[in-house]
Amino acid sequence: MELGDDTARIVEQVTYRQDVDRVGDVIITTGEPRDEIDGDLAAVSEIVDATWPTSQRHELAQLSAVREESRGLVGVVHPPATGGWILSLDLADIDDRALIEETIVHELSHVVTLDNGVFTFGEVEGCSGVQISLGCAEADSLLARFADRFWPCDLGSAFADDYVNDYASTAAHEDLAETFTAWVLGRPIEGEVIEAKIEMLSADAEMAELADALLLA
Ligand SMILES: [Zn+2]
Repeated sequence: MELGDDTARIVEQVTYRQDVDRVGDVIITTGEPRDEIDGDLAAVSEIVDATWPTSQRHELAQLSAVREESRGLVGVVHPPATGGWILSLDLADIDDRALIEETIVHELSHVVTLDNGVFTFGEVEGCSGVQISLGCAEADSLLARFADRFWPCDLGSAFADDYVNDYASTAAHEDLAETFTAWVLGRPIEGEVIEAKIEMLSADAEMAELADALLLA
């Protein structure tokens, strides 16, 4: 799958199963006996190890392997009540290392911009920053500024050319994540609006640091 294939990530709407087998820090939700997927699990955790920067390692509470190919899932992050983030990756994509790496970059941008210091999930009464479909971005946070400028009233531009791909046009936080990913991966960038988005992301110290760490990885 290419970046831009809008079936690539059916992400934030994933419902997590409760009947999971725990293997150390890795949760398996495929229902398969552990010994049958041990090789894939080892491979997926090796890719995460090699890609996820050390500076963000404390954010990764858990790696979860899933099998959701029918729904087009590649990866998703979500914050458990216990803190940090759970990263879930689909074992079906194990042979496509580039896709998994790209997905990790995308998810890392969520980890940074949806952190509980700057973002509250859900409809927040009296959100002092910018309320988007996913939740309330704190005033002056990168996502608040990004949404305020490019998604006024939580409505993105109607022009396809203003997005790096179709998935970016689905929500403000996905636009930020896909634009960040395209920038970090050095995808060809065209158009004033996309350039302005990248300018905003690259001017943000935390995102610039993340981009640097990813390039070094
Ligand atoms: Zn996403």
